[in-house]
Amino acid sequence: MLKEHLNTFSQHQTPFYAYDLRLLRQILDTAKAEAGKYGYHVHYALKANANAPILAEVLQRGFGADCVSGNEVKCALEAGFPAEQVVFAGVGKSDAEINFALDANIFCFNVESVQELEVIQELAAAKGKVAQVALRINPNVDAYTHKHITTGLEENKFGINTWELEGLVERFPSWPNLKLIGLHFHIGSQITDLRAFENLCLRVNEIQNWFEARGLVFPHLNVGGGLGVDYRSPDEKPVADFAAYFAIFDRLLEKRPAQVVHFELGRALVAPCGNLISKVLYLKHGQKTNFVILDAGMTELMRPALYQAYHHIENLTSTLPVKTYDVVGPICESTDCFSKDLELPETKRGDLVALRTAGAYGEVMASAYNLRDRVQAIYLF
Ligand SMILES: *Cc1c(COP(=O)(O)O)cnc(C)c1O
Repeated sequence: MLKEHLNTFSQHQTPFYAYDLRLLRQILDTAKAEAGKYGYHVHYALKANANAPILAEVLQRGFGADCVSGNEVKCALEAGFPAEQVVFAGVGKSDAEINFALDANIFCFNVESVQELEVIQELAAAKGKVAQVALRINPNVDAYTHKHITTGLEENKFGINTWELEGLVERFPSWPNLKLIGLHFHIGSQITDLRAFENLCLRVNEIQNWFEARGLVFPHLNVGGGLGVDYRSPDEKPVADFAAYFAIFDRLLEKRPAQVVHFELGRALVAPCGNLISKVLYLKHGQKTNFVILDAGMTELMRPALYQAYHHIENLTSTLPVKTYDVVGPICESTDCFSKDLELPETKRGDLVALRTAGAYGEVMASAYNLRDRVQAIYLF
């Protein structure tokens, strides 16, 4: 399917990201329709991909923005997301970032520690403002995903632990510049075993009941993101099962009548539409291993080096019988390897290769290590 764009690809300097905006629209429309069935609010997690043409498509569908840095808040506002649809999470918000978000009147700070509450109180008081906050609670729920992208276990740095809540509830009256509007959860990423979300719902219910027993009912519940995509067969199911995902929350989450439920999706919305297109520089034949050396490396797509992530690799040029290769990048690191023992059609210098499903956490993580040029992007309409 990608092969139909071979002509376009051959006119650009490799490596580059190619984004299929048609597929992006199809995914966004599906997510919007499925969330709409239950009146759910979806915020797009900018950290997955913050390219302007992608943000424009997201914005057109009325999604909000989920940000994890001051610059992401700034980027979201500049892209046109209304401040009242911007949420701001992150364990280490600096004073400058908090002040910026206060000045912008964002919808909500998702607060990850007791000390952060104290700091936001102090900074908001200095401005004579009231900051809307939600408590990001660490629910100790396993996401059944790679340990490097699990965030909702006690051992992870994210969120406030439940045993801290008792003391926290007592202190809230002494923080007049904070308005506690909700609870927030985000247990991890690339979650494909949907039972993790069922477990999350049950934990959220327990925690919500705990607050209610203390006289606290919140207008907002934010259950985060994390829905996974199929990296193995990118052409078979490019659209994640949003219907099944949202239905779980409708079935299990004990939403109070006036409550608004929020989601923060990144990967499932943008991963499938992105491909890293690279050219084969060299073939190197060892005793045991044949290496394909690409002109793209971990500087363009860090996920395999960072957390052993799998990306489907396709030789767009060759139609020869398959051989077995290790596919590596040009960077001076042994972890700069995209795949080992991979079967590809016999590959030659100059062939174009696609690393699929790279639209999320790909280009945004690009680095200049080895003084590499910044990777470019093209858009397929
Ligand atoms: C990264 C992140 C998300 C999005 O996660 P995905 O796995 O891309 O859906 C949502 N919420 C928070 C707080 C995050 O840090």
